[in-house]
Amino acid sequence: MMNHSIHNYIDGQLVGPANGQYLDLIEPATGDVYGQIARSQNEDVLAAVDAAGRAAKLWRDIGVKKRAAYLRDLADGIKQNLDAFAAAESKDSGKPLSLTTSVDIPRSIENLNFFADAALQWESKAYSGQAGINYVLNKPAGIAACISPWNLPLYLFTWKIAPALAAGCTVVAKPSEMTPMTAYMLSELCIKIGLPNGVLNIIHGLGAEAGASLVANPKIKRVSFTGGTTTGKTIAKSCSERLTKYSLELGGKNPVLIFDDVDVDKAVSLAVRAGFTNQGQICLCGSRIYIQESIYESFKKRFVEAVKALKVGDPNEQQTQQGSLISEAHKQKVIASIAEARDLGANILCGGSELKPSGRCKGGYFVTPTVIEGLSPDAGPQKHEIFGPVVTLTPFSSEEEVIDLANDSTYGLSSVVMTNDISRAHRVAESLEVGIVWLNGWMVRDLRTPFGGFKNSGVGREGGFHALEFFADQTNVCICL
Ligand code: NAD
Repeated sequence: MMNHSIHNYIDGQLVGPANGQYLDLIEPATGDVYGQIARSQNEDVLAAVDAAGRAAKLWRDIGVKKRAAYLRDLADGIKQNLDAFAAAESKDSGKPLSLTTSVDIPRSIENLNFFADAALQWESKAYSGQAGINYVLNKPAGIAACISPWNLPLYLFTWKIAPALAAGCTVVAKPSEMTPMTAYMLSELCIKIGLPNGVLNIIHGLGAEAGASLVANPKIKRVSFTGGTTTGKTIAKSCSERLTKYSLELGGKNPVLIFDDVDVDKAVSLAVRAGFTNQGQICLCGSRIYIQESIYESFKKRFVEAVKALKVGDPNEQQTQQGSLISEAHKQKVIASIAEARDLGANILCGGSELKPSGRCKGGYFVTPTVIEGLSPDAGPQKHEIFGPVVTLTPFSSEEEVIDLANDSTYGLSSVVMTNDISRAHRVAESLEVGIVWLNGWMVRDLRTPFGGFKNSGVGREGGFHALEFFADQTNVCICL
C-alpha cells in the first residue's frame, strides 16, 4: 500500500524534488512498496546547501547553550513518540521491533542528549610558555554533509548530525534511500520544535546522485560518512579534489577470539549476540569466530544449537529475534557468499538458505542464520564483509596464531576477546589492529571514547570531543609576552 511520501527538508520546509521524480520505498519484511521517496538531484542539493549557508551565521552566533537546547528538544520529541519511531524504523529496515524499541531509538535519543551535554563541556586548550600564552579557538567549520547507511538508520543519522550541530555547523544530511522514514519523521519534528530554517536540511535520494552531488559541492566543509568501504573510497577521492576534510566509518570483518579458560556457555551466548544481532548487519558484528582447540567441539555443538534456536520471522512479533535482510539484492549477495563457501568445500553447520515465512512476510528477504566451518584463512567468505547472518568457525592452538589470524584482514574495525586471563587480555588487545577491542563483551559503548577503524575500516575517529573537533576549525591565538 502506498501511503507515505518522503519529501526533502530544505530551509525549514518539506518540499518535493525539483524534477518531481520519486523512488519506491519497500518494506523488506514483506517486499511490498509502501511509499515514495524523493529522488533528489543536484538542483535539490544546491537549494539545501544554500539554505545551510544562509543559516550559518545565526546558528554560530546563537551560542552553544541554545544549540544544546534545540538538540534536547529533538531528543524529547523522539522520546515522546518512541513507539511511532520504533515502528517506522522496524518497517523500513526489517529489523525486529523489539530491537528498534530497545536499541535504535533509545540510542538516537541518547546521541542528541549526549552531544548537547558534550558541547557544553567542550574546553579549548591553552598553552602557557615563557614567550607567550597560546589559546585555541574552536570555530564551526561551516556546512557539514552527513551521510548515513541503512543498517542503523536514525541511530547513525543522529550520531552524525548531533555533533555537527552542537559544534555550530549547519548541516545537509542524506540518510540511506533504503531507510529514509525516521529521518523524515525527524524533519517533521524539527519543524514542530521551531529549529531555525536552514540549520538542518535533509535530502533524500540515491547515493550516486544526491549523495555524490552533496560531497562534490564546494561549499561543503566537512563530510562525515558511514557506509561501505568502496563508497568511502569514492567519497575520499571526491573530497581530495577540493581538500574537503572527511571522516569515514566503513566496513568490518571482525574477529571473535575465544580462549579455553572461559565458560563455554557464556562464550556461546556472547558469540551468538555478536554474530547475529540485526541479522548480522552491524559493522561491529563478529563474523570470524576463532575458538581454542581444546574447547572447539563443545563450543561448536552448543553454538550451532543456539543459532538454530534463533526465532526468524515477522519483525512485528515480540518473540522474533531475526528479522529480514534489507533488500532482495542484499539477500542474493549473502546467499552467494554461502554458495561460495559451499563450493570451497566448507561445512554448512546450520542455515545456509533463504527462508519464506508464511503469512504477511512471505515476500520478505529472510536468510536462515548460518554457521560455516572448514574454510581456509584466505577463502573469500573469511575475507570479504558478508554483512548478513553468517559466521565462520575456525580452531586455533596458540595466542600467537590467533593474533595472526585475526589481523590477517584488510579491515580493522572491532574485535571481541574472551578470556579470564587479564595479562593475556591486555597482550592480545595491544596486538590487535582494530579500533575497539571488547574484552568479554560486545557493543558496550561509552559515547565519549574514540570510535573508528584501522585499514579499510575507516579514516578518523568519532565520539565525544573527537567528533566535535572534527566539525571545528581551530585557530591558535598567541598572546606574545
Ligand atoms: P553504502 O556505502 O552503500 O551507502 C551509505 C550511504 O552512502 C547511503 O546513504 C548512500 O545513499 C550513500 N552513498 C552511496 N554512494 C554514494 C556516493 N557515491 N557519494 C555519496 N554518498 C553515497 O553503505 P550501506 O550499504 O548503506 O551500509 C552498509 C555498509 O556500511 C557496510 O559496509 C557496513 O560495514 C558499513 N557501516 C559501517 C559503520 C561504521 O561505523 N564503521 C557503521 C554502520 C555501517
